[in-house]
Amino acid sequence: MKIIKNIFELNKAIKNYKNIGFVPTMGGIHRGHTSLIKTSQRKNLKTIVSIFVNPTQFNKKKDFNIYPRNITNDIQILKKLKVDYLFTPNVKEIYKKKMKKFTLKRTEKVLCAKFRPGHFEGVLDVMNRLLSLIKSKNVFMGEKDFQQYLLIKKILGKKFKIEIVGCPIVRDKNKIALSTRNKLLNKDSVIKASNIARKLISLKRNSIVKKMKMPINFFKIKSDFEKRYKIRIDYLEIRDEKNLRLNNIKSKYRLFIAYNINNVRLIDNF
Ligand code: AMP
Repeated sequence: MKIIKNIFELNKAIKNYKNIGFVPTMGGIHRGHTSLIKTSQRKNLKTIVSIFVNPTQFNKKKDFNIYPRNITNDIQILKKLKVDYLFTPNVKEIYKKKMKKFTLKRTEKVLCAKFRPGHFEGVLDVMNRLLSLIKSKNVFMGEKDFQQYLLIKKILGKKFKIEIVGCPIVRDKNKIALSTRNKLLNKDSVIKASNIARKLISLKRNSIVKKMKMPINFFKIKSDFEKRYKIRIDYLEIRDEKNLRLNNIKSKYRLFIAYNINNVRLIDNF
């Protein structure tokens, strides 16, 4: 695996390849990330992984500072997987060029866009920078961050004419969606997060969600969760999978949750 730290080396290394599969990450590599990498490799693409903890997408400085980082361990995992390239630039390298900023439409300001102002503007900015450097055929993104996947597909997929491939959520044995942030959870929070995930999986599976009248019953589940687990829920909503519309769900829908447990913010969808 070739480790690349700056744009000059990057251009030198990948300029001759057309079949590039790109997996952008913030590191703390886990099975969620490796499933994206394996999907790229199965498509016979030269696979490049980036590890960049992007400061502009954290709307709280403290959250950025405590974000778990372990580059040595990440490199070991990626080498074992026979990833072709790892791109680990620093902040200066990525932000040295002035580039157009993104704003969200009013209708897009739902779920995390509503509760983390500036977050997706930061995500779109960094992804715009990365995609203008890495001319990839496919970009692999997890459905764990479903709203992020949809926004990037809609805005940047179109702009760069690349296919953004959505990959299924990988969960641990407790049914919690794998996330680098899970390292910040204590034992008690893991039990609570597991109970919440199991409950929402069963709600979705039994299609109870579909029959529920919005929003009354969700208010009840939400307040039950908040009381029982001492958490603060930002949102618990079902939305159309295509356009994230709240009402008038005609076909496929997903149940979205974001909550704060012991100062850790978790998101998931079912
Ligand atoms: P992150 O490092 O958290 O920014 O994630 C990098 C990429 O991995 C994003 O496209 C995420 O959606 C994806 N990802 C993170 N966790 C999971 C998971 N549990 N299952 C599937 N994809 C994931």
